[in-house]
Amino acid sequence: MSTPSWIPSIIKERQSLSPYTTMKIGGIARFFSVVHTVEDLLECIRFSQQQSLPLFVIGKGSNLIVGDGCIDAVFVVNRIGGVLLKDDRVKVGAGVNASYLSQKISKMGYGGLEFFSGIPGTVGGCVVMNAGAQQKEVKDILLEVETIDPFGNFCHYSRDDLKFGYRTSPFKGKKEVIVSLTFKVYEDQMAEEKRVSILKKRLDTQPYTVPTAGCMFKNPIGASAGQLIDRCGLKGLQIGGVKVSSKHANFFENNHNATAQNVLDLIERVRYEVKIKTGIDLELEVIPCFTTCTPTLQHPTVS
Ligand SMILES: Cc1cc2nc3c(=O)[nH]c(=O)nc-3n(C[C@H](O)[C@H](O)[C@H](O)COP(=O)(O)OP(=O)(O)OC[C@H]3O[C@@H](n4cnc5c(N)ncnc54)[C@H](O)[C@@H]3O)c2cc1C
Repeated sequence: MSTPSWIPSIIKERQSLSPYTTMKIGGIARFFSVVHTVEDLLECIRFSQQQSLPLFVIGKGSNLIVGDGCIDAVFVVNRIGGVLLKDDRVKVGAGVNASYLSQKISKMGYGGLEFFSGIPGTVGGCVVMNAGAQQKEVKDILLEVETIDPFGNFCHYSRDDLKFGYRTSPFKGKKEVIVSLTFKVYEDQMAEEKRVSILKKRLDTQPYTVPTAGCMFKNPIGASAGQLIDRCGLKGLQIGGVKVSSKHANFFENNHNATAQNVLDLIERVRYEVKIKTGIDLELEVIPCFTTCTPTLQHPTVS
């Protein structure tokens, strides 16, 4: 079926989103594009404005739970690439994979990004989430961010303009799209060795061979969400096709064609049990993307 002329050729209609999330769950995007260039991104932004539809950016979908229905939005998968190392700064396209970047830079003899090793997200997504591991977070290495706003304007921020928190940033839930960013690095011939050891530790302690969305819940102050869930005896608890991982209780595994509803039900069950048994409220780390579900798809009126 050919694309109607009012839809730019880079945008598809009715695309399943599950292949674009690491949990392999998700309904149908009304409009969808994988963008490799800033020009294509600008075209998607213009289209979403023309159609008065929200634009939702997916990096690697590694911290997302996407609803089961049809979602009335323009979904953009960001694959804007490019890695430029100069002195002690590396400028990176927001669609570059964080773990790949960590490997590339440490193999060049530079340190600072080893903690990204094994984080499956894009660097853009990592800035939005202020991703972290090994007592380090994105905020500790970030120098600059370049974004595009919903009107197609480019905006530049330096680290000092931005206030980050635990798994949050000023870009979370906002309409700007991150297109590139700059991290600080330093010469370190041991970086690759450190990176490999971090990756090994991850593979030993986290489920990497089944689809997950990383940690479901934030760690409450002074506690580990995974340990709390484990102590409540919830490892292995399953609803539909989704299960609390036996390897790391803060990960939910999609074992048998799980639905987003299964995930929501398991989230509520785990929250309930932890609250009853420990008095602690677990807060979600993953981002639910459900808000614009519509039961049927309607074509917009074209003037
Ligand atoms: C096996 C596994 C291990 C993980 N380990 C860790 C870990 O150690 N530490 C950690 O912090 N996280 C971890 N995560 C979670 C996840 O990888 C991070 O949160 C990552 O930062 C998400 O990046 P993403 O590109 O996948 O973003 P997505 O999940 O695609 O999106 C997350 C949010 O960012 C927004 N977004 C994405 N890209 C852009 C952009 N360019 N501009 C504007 N908004 C954007 C999305 O709209 C969404 O709101 C893990 C996940 C998995 C599956």
